[in-house]
Amino acid sequence: MNKSELYRKIPKVDDILNHEETIKYLKNNSLNILKLSIDKILNNIRNDIEDLTENNYCDYIIDCEIIVKEIVNDALKYNKMNLKNVINGTGVVIHTNLGRSCINKETAMEVYKIASGYSNLEFDLNSGKRGHRYDHIEKLICQLTGAESAMVVNNNAAAVMLILNTLSQNGEAIVSRGELVEIGGSFRIPDVMKLSNTDLVEVGTTNKTHLKDYRNAITDKTNLLLKVHTSNYRIMGFTESVSRENLVNLGKTNNIPVYEDLGSGLLFDLSDYFKSTEPTVKSVVNSGVDVISFSGDKMLGGPQAGIIIGKKKYVEKMKYNQLTRAFRVDKMTLAALEITFRQYLDIETAKLNIPTIKNLTIDIVDIIHKAEKLLNVLHNIENLHIEIIQDESQVGGGSMPLTRLKTYALQICIDNMKPDDIAKSLRTCSYPVVGRIKNEMFLLDLRTIDENEFNDIKKAFIEIINGGKNV
Ligand SMILES: *Cc1c(COP(=O)(O)O)cnc(C)c1O
Repeated sequence: MNKSELYRKIPKVDDILNHEETIKYLKNNSLNILKLSIDKILNNIRNDIEDLTENNYCDYIIDCEIIVKEIVNDALKYNKMNLKNVINGTGVVIHTNLGRSCINKETAMEVYKIASGYSNLEFDLNSGKRGHRYDHIEKLICQLTGAESAMVVNNNAAAVMLILNTLSQNGEAIVSRGELVEIGGSFRIPDVMKLSNTDLVEVGTTNKTHLKDYRNAITDKTNLLLKVHTSNYRIMGFTESVSRENLVNLGKTNNIPVYEDLGSGLLFDLSDYFKSTEPTVKSVVNSGVDVISFSGDKMLGGPQAGIIIGKKKYVEKMKYNQLTRAFRVDKMTLAALEITFRQYLDIETAKLNIPTIKNLTIDIVDIIHKAEKLLNVLHNIENLHIEIIQDESQVGGGSMPLTRLKTYALQICIDNMKPDDIAKSLRTCSYPVVGRIKNEMFLLDLRTIDENEFNDIKKAFIEIINGGKNV
């Protein structure tokens, strides 16, 4: 056998197209996509043959059946989205790696409506002239937060950058050493300040910062007093930080604006539900802080966005910063944000309907019921050993790092499988389930699992235990 004989054995496209596997595929799938796979796989074979040496000609096998299967499998992969839903059994409510906040159906439908048609995004229907995209939500945000003015950018990181650049460019911003935060994904306050052309003036020590530290650091270059919410850590023990009110007074006395990066945007008091250390947005506005920013998809429970609120003279200036154009949000985000904020007009509606709020405030009795129901759904599966245990879930998203929420979880063992193997198999099956491991045990936390996901969880276990065959 030589190379040209091998080349001649490569199946003809017509033969591939007439193969019964291909015909089956084509009943429900696209011919054009199949052609892409035919080109790709046949090219791979030609390249393989090209690379063969005299010694391994004879080992190279060209089998039409195998090649057709490979082509059809490759083509089927194009049908599958890489970005897909997963079931969150981690108990972390705002899980950044799993997409943070989920939106409810009403919100998703509103996004669908706005995204699938033309809209008045930047068009004033009364005057027929150009409008502003922020007009649709500004009043609503102001009403809910008590702020004078509001705007929205792509995420809170962009908000921080825009605010620093607008209010403190070519000058200094004073911040406490205890608040030089790094958020997951390497967003670091000092680095962002550099990018915003702002000089960082650090005051105090890691554990203690006094009002006089800020006061002594003020010079004629000082443009901003910055407070950063230590979202994802707490400094404990011998500590002192300057209260918002004192910082606001210092700012007023020296005619320097105070900006607080709040991280999470909590719109109502959660202390009825658990010991909350997160201030509400309204309380921060009331304390007189000039500018505040927070994320749309943390405790607010909306889409990814950065919400900026504050005194009109500062927010207006930001609207005309060129960075605003680069950071501007899409109509899908605006639609989701508007409906999310609207749901907060009736706080009881928000608690019931906004998934993040619902998962944070769910009654422990409801979690137990969910655990019992899921146990029931799974209990028939062979080789599966399940126990309901009490445990703790986390808020996540860098919010309230010390708060633990009482929860119930299923502790699941499978014969001949280690907890890590269970976790990996569930992650990689057709409908991925993500759990957590604690004390060498695999757990599914019911706080973040919805009842309508129970059947998919059952399918996932059947798939990993029986290799996809139904019991
Ligand atoms: C989360 C967070 C950010 C970043 O917000 P994104 O919306 O993820 O861009 C910035 N600052 C603080 C204090 C945060 O907690």
